[in-house]
Amino acid sequence: MSGRLVLPGDSAYGVAAQLYNERFDDARPAAIAFCADPVDVQRTLSFARTWGVPLAVRSGGHSYGGYSVGPGVVVGVTAMASVEVTGPAARVGAGTRLVDLYSTLASTGLTVPGGSCPTVGIAGLALGGGIGVLGRKFGLTADNLRSLQMVTPDSRLVTCSPTAHEDLFWASRGGGGGNFGVVTSFEFSVHPVPDVALFTLEWPWAAAPDVLGAWQLWIGQAPTELWSNCQLLSQGAAGPLVKVTGVFCGDAGALDAALAPLVRTAGSPSYRFAGPEAFPKAMLVEAGCEGLTVEQCRLPAQGPAGALERSRFAAKSLVVDEPLPSPAAAAVLAAVEGFQAQAPGLGGAVVFDACGGAIAEVPSAATAFVHRRALAIVQMAVSWSAPAPGPTPAGTAGWLAQLGADLAPHATGAYQNYVDPTLDDWATAYYGANLPRLRRIKRAVDPDDVFRFAQSIPPA
Ligand SMILES: Cc1cc2nc3c(=O)[nH]c(=O)nc-3n(C[C@H](O)[C@H](O)[C@H](O)COP(=O)(O)OP(=O)(O)OC[C@H]3O[C@@H](n4cnc5c(N)ncnc54)[C@H](O)[C@@H]3O)c2cc1C
Repeated sequence: MSGRLVLPGDSAYGVAAQLYNERFDDARPAAIAFCADPVDVQRTLSFARTWGVPLAVRSGGHSYGGYSVGPGVVVGVTAMASVEVTGPAARVGAGTRLVDLYSTLASTGLTVPGGSCPTVGIAGLALGGGIGVLGRKFGLTADNLRSLQMVTPDSRLVTCSPTAHEDLFWASRGGGGGNFGVVTSFEFSVHPVPDVALFTLEWPWAAAPDVLGAWQLWIGQAPTELWSNCQLLSQGAAGPLVKVTGVFCGDAGALDAALAPLVRTAGSPSYRFAGPEAFPKAMLVEAGCEGLTVEQCRLPAQGPAGALERSRFAAKSLVVDEPLPSPAAAAVLAAVEGFQAQAPGLGGAVVFDACGGAIAEVPSAATAFVHRRALAIVQMAVSWSAPAPGPTPAGTAGWLAQLGADLAPHATGAYQNYVDPTLDDWATAYYGANLPRLRRIKRAVDPDDVFRFAQSIPPA
């Protein structure tokens, strides 16, 4: 390899084997191959096939299920991190982290819509769809993909686009990471950075039923320039909190007008901030890096100034196409209220992230991302501190399972980028009507199921 191969016993092994979620720190891969170019990937795949070594592909390492590490060789792409703008497109190395994608592009006045977490890798994000604060305006990350380079299971390097390897290109826009090959680079359409304004509104918990109901109706009618989420947070002894935050592509006056219908229905917030923000800073704020520089907005292992920390969490997601009926919304609120009793001292949250807008303009069979009619993706998450790694703390798995069961009758699926190892019918939940085509493509591209993990697409 021209990149670095890290083996057990090497001083770098401990950190090199880590994912973002500390729950998976007990993983002991046989090797981590930090591939520096597509040839390294080809050699690693050939080696693994020849010797029957299991593979796991890794970019930013944020897989909720820990699917980017296993007992065999980790094919790492973080050494292929680069952003290069040529005309209307940006060529992006598969190991680029979102903070670097946004900051590099913004320095040339451009952007690509993506997710919020700064340390997420572009590969996992784009292959599963990619929802974020510019999604209603510019679509999913995957919707902005023009082409990509991938090393297939037989170690061929192919370029996939609307006119070459069309099936793989289709599958790579929402079919989920790790299924068909190792992507080494992407080419995305870029957009001039918009003027943006940010907002946060909070209400006393007593208003939560009105706020959640109003938010779901409001977001379905809101302009595509506006993205928002509704957060229901258990805060331990401080009691639960309801807040609505978001990003608006436009000026503060137009934002006020866009917020007015929400406030009319939900009632006056107890806290309100709405104001313009420079685009690069807005992306840092949304990344949870307010007050930090780009260099600080990383994990310590990713740069000497890195000031972020890894975390420990478990999560479930559901896709809802319609506002929840009142009893289901009440179940959400009761779950947040009851969280403290079930899992004292831990963080529990239910967050409704808006979809719609440009995401809904693409037909559901046009790419592998099927959730085009989604009003929102509902994420239920539990986070905790040590001990890690290990099972989720007492009470939390049951809390997630119960809430998931309460909402399941109202869901049309689950988001494949929030992979959920506890989901029974995960393939249908992630891919819906697109599953049969994905399975046929899998059979054609990876008949021996080389790219296999607990929730990899089974060949037809
Ligand atoms: C804190 C946090 C915040 C998040 N916020 C958002 C958000 O705002 N919007 C959103 O849409 N999602 C979000 N996500 C989910 C995120 O998009 C997924 O977890 C995504 O899969 C992570 O990509 P990764 O490259 O960092 O992870 P990895 O664990 O490296 O990879 C994820 C999957 O993709 C595969 N993969 C990785 N690299 C490649 C490659 N080069 N070729 C082929 N397959 C590959 C892996 O095998 C694995 O199955 C968030 C996740 C976390 C933990």
